[in-house]
Amino acid sequence: MKLLRQRIIYDMYLHIAIPRPVEDVFTYRCPPELEEQASIGKRVIVQFGRQKVTGFITSISEDIPHIFSSGHKKREIKPVLSILDTAPLIDETMLALCKWASEYYLFPFGMVLKTALSGIPEDKAARYPKKIHHILDMYKGSEAPHPQIKNTGGGLGEAQNSLPFKGRVRVGMGSISDGYLLTEAQTNVLLQIKASIAAGEFRVHLLHGVTGSGKTEVYMNAIEENLKNGKAGIVLVPEIALTPQLISRFVNRFGERVAVLHSGLTHSERQQEWVRIAEGGADVVIGVRSAVFAPVKNPGIIIIDEEHEHSYKQEDGFRYNARDLAIMRAKLSGAVAVLGSATPSLESYYNAEIGKYIYLSMPERINKRPLPPVKIIDLRKQGFSVITQELLEALKQRLTNGEQSLLFLNRRGFSPFLLCLDCGHTPLCVNCSVSPAFHKKENSLHCHYCDYRMPPPAICPQCNGTKFKAFGAGTERVEEELKKLIPEIRIERMDRDTTSKRHSHHRIFKSMENREADVLIGTQMVTKGLDLPGITLVGVLLADASLHLPDFRSAERTFQFITQVAGRSGRGDTAGEVIVQTFSPDHYSILYASNHDYQGFYKEESAFRKALSYPPYKRIVRILIKGINQESVETASNRFKEIIDNQKAEGIDVLGPVPAPFMKLRNKFRRHIIMKGSNPKSLNNLIRNSLQYFHKEGRHGNVQIEVDVDPMSLL
Ligand code: ADP
Ligand code: ZN
Repeated sequence: MKLLRQRIIYDMYLHIAIPRPVEDVFTYRCPPELEEQASIGKRVIVQFGRQKVTGFITSISEDIPHIFSSGHKKREIKPVLSILDTAPLIDETMLALCKWASEYYLFPFGMVLKTALSGIPEDKAARYPKKIHHILDMYKGSEAPHPQIKNTGGGLGEAQNSLPFKGRVRVGMGSISDGYLLTEAQTNVLLQIKASIAAGEFRVHLLHGVTGSGKTEVYMNAIEENLKNGKAGIVLVPEIALTPQLISRFVNRFGERVAVLHSGLTHSERQQEWVRIAEGGADVVIGVRSAVFAPVKNPGIIIIDEEHEHSYKQEDGFRYNARDLAIMRAKLSGAVAVLGSATPSLESYYNAEIGKYIYLSMPERINKRPLPPVKIIDLRKQGFSVITQELLEALKQRLTNGEQSLLFLNRRGFSPFLLCLDCGHTPLCVNCSVSPAFHKKENSLHCHYCDYRMPPPAICPQCNGTKFKAFGAGTERVEEELKKLIPEIRIERMDRDTTSKRHSHHRIFKSMENREADVLIGTQMVTKGLDLPGITLVGVLLADASLHLPDFRSAERTFQFITQVAGRSGRGDTAGEVIVQTFSPDHYSILYASNHDYQGFYKEESAFRKALSYPPYKRIVRILIKGINQESVETASNRFKEIIDNQKAEGIDVLGPVPAPFMKLRNKFRRHIIMKGSNPKSLNNLIRNSLQYFHKEGRHGNVQIEVDVDPMSLL
């Protein structure tokens, strides 16, 4: 009798998150023989409906859960079938982070956990690797040899003798960073970050440093300080392939303590890095978006480089923003966060303005190098040419001087569309409501949204005409024209078409670094992070390309593109120059960018955001309704709007439903509802309730609803 009593009281229940589109956590009974093994953060196999699925233990209770205590009989609670892990895969902080993310982004907890743990080895096969360092090898020495910190060996002497190091020898007292005498701005900024590290509490810093102000050096010193306290550091970067120098600097300085996480790793490399981090073998983790979930045990600092970058936002499925999750992770870990950028997002700058973030500024380039003067060329007067006469002269001059140039156009392919000269017809993608780009070399019309390729039509389907013309320009055309204009110029092109192979970014980058090329042509890939002292000319071929998108961030994007790409010019001893070709020479985003005037831009842009209730003044959630049947999408979106309206939430604006600017993508029709409000909680509640109601009605089977909280794109 006594035994029975005990069994009833002490029965163990496991609350399991299931990676399925269900919101709840499910309760399972833990069979007595598994009780020893059960702990939070381990995976289990459970029966879910008709399937056996892998779930995660998110909490354990030893009482009969109250929902079952009346009416239900205990044996209706299904048992856990097995426990997969000997040690928890995820600690309580990370679990709390995932829980928060699940609620904030309205995405199922189990699926958030699955994303967070996607780097995990499936079995215990991946062990702490003896030699994984080939991952780091490609970064070694790619940078001017940097004196390494004492505990990883390496010597200063050799570094000082090498050419790129001339004039950067440590001198005097002051604050010395292993070879670099830190600038005053770097010293001041570091003092504040170190104070926060010493305080050992959660603080967010916005490091606003112009291009070439030496932010990387600040990051490394902050990490080092943090390592001294026995804590690990995480550095998020927008795209690994585009930041080889940043990684090189870290690898040269911290050696094998560095782990690199990115999508270019093979599956087993990724698992090895994961294990190395989890076991404490690497305590400086550099990675893209998903590295915010790296299994670092004790992070003391999280750095988000280029915090304004849109690539931190995942654009499908679990639509999280890694920057925001990183801040939350820092908060939950009592760590310090540093957001770095030359062009902070309006949101972050606003947070600094209202005192939520600590504002740190480095307004000058290293060695007081000037920011390059920007010249605007008005295309309205002369019509569009890919490379105007003025730009051509400047390019020739660089070639004569043995200097390098960078040409930026945010469009790949030969031209954005084909046009029938007889009737004006433009071929559309069969799956999407957009015109596919013309790619000359592969002789195809290629849709950049669904990847569909078709041969360019010989005869116009509308008028039987045969004269098709390629209008506008993409990077492929720029390369062709430049070859015609200056046959002897050595060209590299960096866009998605030239970088499909592994390590191709690296090769292109090396070719520029070794001065084997005179000019680099590229899409937005070339705007980020490159620190090539040979580049003294930057040409923006069509600044308007990003300006006229129907998205409230298009001015901000344009400002960021121009400022960032301009920042690649004149980073060495020779002063740089920037030439911007545009049809909108009076647009404020272009004018402020050309004057290197962030504050001016911020002021004007934030007035516009405020007037129209956009972030950072209001929060936005976008509800995207999509499906293959246009009518069902319409019905469902109207119904969803009704459900929202019925709840009569105050202080929330609801716009739409209207067709999304891309009204059809990958064969799915798309409509959206945009919601704006000041209070993220009430927005969140309203949407959660509406979704529940909508799904309960259950008659919108072939329509999907996606919730995008803090969307980066409204297209
Ligand atoms: P940012 O990320 O702010 O654009 P980087 O960190 O790439 O700038 O630094 C620009 C250049 O200045 C790099 O080549 C870097 O090695 C160099 N640098 C950084 N700090 C110093 C310093 N204190 N003294 C001399 N050179 C420095
Ligand atoms: Zn398409």
